[in-house]
Amino acid sequence: MSKEIPYKIYLSESEIPTAWYNVRAHMKNKPAPLLNPGTLKPMTADELSAVFCDELVKQELDDTTPYIEIPEEIRNFYKMYRPAPLVRAYCLEEKLKTPAKIYYKFEGNNTSGSHKLNSAIAQAYYAKKQGLKGVTTETGAGQWGTALSMACAYFGLDCKVYMVKVSYEQKPFRREVMRTYGASVTPSPSETTEIGREILSKFPGTNGSLGCAISEAVEVATHTPGYRYVLGSVLNQVLLHQSVIGLETKAALDKYGVKADMIIGCAGGGSNLGGLIAPFLGEKLRGEADYRIIAVEPASCPSFTRGTYAYDFCDTGMVCPLAKMYTLGSSFMPAPNHAGGLRYHGMSSTLSQAYDDGLIEARSVKQTDVFEAAQMFARIEGILPAPESSHAIRVAIDEALKCKETGEEKTIVFGLTGTGYFDMVAYQKFNDGLMEDYIPTDDEIKASLSKLPKV
Ligand SMILES: *Cc1c(COP(=O)(O)O)cnc(C)c1O
Repeated sequence: MSKEIPYKIYLSESEIPTAWYNVRAHMKNKPAPLLNPGTLKPMTADELSAVFCDELVKQELDDTTPYIEIPEEIRNFYKMYRPAPLVRAYCLEEKLKTPAKIYYKFEGNNTSGSHKLNSAIAQAYYAKKQGLKGVTTETGAGQWGTALSMACAYFGLDCKVYMVKVSYEQKPFRREVMRTYGASVTPSPSETTEIGREILSKFPGTNGSLGCAISEAVEVATHTPGYRYVLGSVLNQVLLHQSVIGLETKAALDKYGVKADMIIGCAGGGSNLGGLIAPFLGEKLRGEADYRIIAVEPASCPSFTRGTYAYDFCDTGMVCPLAKMYTLGSSFMPAPNHAGGLRYHGMSSTLSQAYDDGLIEARSVKQTDVFEAAQMFARIEGILPAPESSHAIRVAIDEALKCKETGEEKTIVFGLTGTGYFDMVAYQKFNDGLMEDYIPTDDEIKASLSKLPKV
């Protein structure tokens, strides 16, 4: 059992999972269904298939099948950049002088630089298999758009990306990566859609938001023959694809007889966290093992810690189905936090249900504390982390320091979702001492929650 743990635990190619794990199959309280905003009845497969690919609709609605086979074409693509290493953070442990054992699962080893490629390739595959011409999507900071561009290039699909305007302007290199992979990139809100024109006339000079870009992308997908919309987080299907992260992590730990005590991940829409914890939460649900699971969110966009569990719109334009989730209200405009991937007003309904059932905990952290942890991690472990991922680093360090006080030898596993090479403006602000912490007031949150749909 006490095999020496290497710095990096690599699985072999043949150990890449052959099936995704659908944790909903083992949840007693299933996540609430998406509702049609007009009728307030659960969305049917037919209704959903106007927006999403057929196979993905099936996965979205499937609350009972625990394992869903990963098609060979997707597995072959995974082989180009997976399995992702599980790293023992020996250097960080030593620096912190903690008795805790820290591991991180690193998902930044691909050009898109994050875990998002795991679902992008799956969604592109099903779109291609259905004979579609292309897909539309939104992107905030740009990671999802990049991942989807790569996936679409691989399968020869057209890719139209609506990029939140402020990111489009601040991250020209992200935009060029997407264009290099053949995607068209439009700053949102734009004049190319009805909803975009409406938002522009109401809020001229707006920086845009994820919710608004989603509305535009959905409008284009549903008005263009041969196109469907794809989403990079929040949905059940995305958490399903991301379970590859957790399955690999579990396999690597099992190989060395290591049992995690605590699993930590950042939570924007909840896909990396949902994927990382899936097999562990499954064990917890089946009563086979227990874990502390901690979702980490920015103090500027605290859906779990200060939001409400209710049905809400997924987008600003209110064209998408209603989802029951922890939400700050779809009209909530998060302050300009540098972790663009964590600026969504809501949260995956699977994770929301698990949180409501007390199966996972949540914590919010301030931006400057996050970058302090990011800088420390970069200097000690070598990897320059994405600001989003650094939320998990922050809490992993905090928990390791608690272990130092108590002398407990806890095993901490956290998700290092990506690299921060395109976030150097944020690092620059931090390095120059110009980074600020934005925390919404109770009144701001109350105001946006007062506009929740009445269901
Ligand atoms: C998008 C993103 C996230 C947050 O998205 P989730 O769906 O909550 O996982 C976290 N880290 C990175 C690097 C991202 O790109």
